[in-house]
Amino acid sequence: MLPYGRQSITEEDVEAVAEVLRGDWLTTGPAVGRFEAELARWTGGVPCLAVTSGTAALHVAYVAAGIGPGDEVITSPLTFVATAATAALRGARVVFADVQPDTGNLDPGAAAAAVSDRTRAVTAVDYAGHPADYDELREVASRAGAALIADAAHSIGSAYKGLPVGRPADLTTFSFFPTKTVTTAEGGAVAVADGERFRLAARFRNHGLVRDPAEQRDPGHGGWHQEVHHFGLNYRLPDVLCALGASQLRRLAAFRARRAELVARYGTLLAGVPGLTLPAQRPYVEPSWHLYPVRVRDGRRREVYERMRGAGIGVQVNYIPAYWHPVFEDLGYRRGLCPEAEAYYTEQLSLPLFPDLTDTQQDHVVECLTAILA
Ligand SMILES: *Cc1c(COP(=O)(O)O)cnc(C)c1O
Repeated sequence: MLPYGRQSITEEDVEAVAEVLRGDWLTTGPAVGRFEAELARWTGGVPCLAVTSGTAALHVAYVAAGIGPGDEVITSPLTFVATAATAALRGARVVFADVQPDTGNLDPGAAAAAVSDRTRAVTAVDYAGHPADYDELREVASRAGAALIADAAHSIGSAYKGLPVGRPADLTTFSFFPTKTVTTAEGGAVAVADGERFRLAARFRNHGLVRDPAEQRDPGHGGWHQEVHHFGLNYRLPDVLCALGASQLRRLAAFRARRAELVARYGTLLAGVPGLTLPAQRPYVEPSWHLYPVRVRDGRRREVYERMRGAGIGVQVNYIPAYWHPVFEDLGYRRGLCPEAEAYYTEQLSLPLFPDLTDTQQDHVVECLTAILA
């Protein structure tokens, strides 16, 4: 089965990992800082913390933003459930606001309408790699006195009005799952602009441990002494995986270019195919595409999904609206809440897109899809 997304691993990646395995540190060692420094070059200088997954990154971001019980987090339902689940795990109420029909991104107007006096964060999702409308979302967040968070699991390497993703929001999270643009097998990172929030994030990643005597409540026990002031978790990404990440980042520009080439080819090859809506691109963004999301009209999405899969083409659907999950249904969320997101989901289909996809394989995908829809 041709997958919808997959990693691209070279011998250099293998060697980078092997080199760490032969060394002194398997977990927290010099590769972690190196990877974080390389990442920060992609976030326009905003400091980054490597963590164990994109989900952990979101959890850390909500902690650093001070999200807790009674707070409300506004976000898009057209995302992987983790964007909302991690806010709910902090005890916050998730308020879903609808998406723009062309990009599938959080609609700033809908987000503004969802603001209450309990709003503490607005979390955008750069769906498929296309940056959200950050200027407008910033205005919504500022007026609400809320943090602006970007779930950039899809969009590492993208730019919004000339700013690299990582710059527009207060906190930006990445995922390095193998289908994503850069991989560490499992892994993620959070970019944090504010120094105090960065400190909170770094502590939460490491059990909440306070090691600097100047910050301890009861210093003077000895060099071994460390304290926990707030509970944390172990979300440390090991050296082995950071070495893979740093090696992968060296090819991010090439990944982005090949993905853009494939997206342009899909655009040309699929233009005019009946019953198909191709993804939009706003003029002020430079996406590093993670997905190629088409919309299959006329109620034929399921049929097309099944026939493509039957032909060995691993198309995917991204995503079921987050509040359709029974866990949200049990909390009282009802279908019909975000009609644009539901309409998008009903028609959405992700075609194969990854750097090692060949033109010939892509031609085959196009021929198969065209034959079904013709
Ligand atoms: C992949 C993804 C996540 C979660 O990342 P993991 O590394 O799988 O935990 C969160 N949000 C979005 C939009 C994603 O695509």
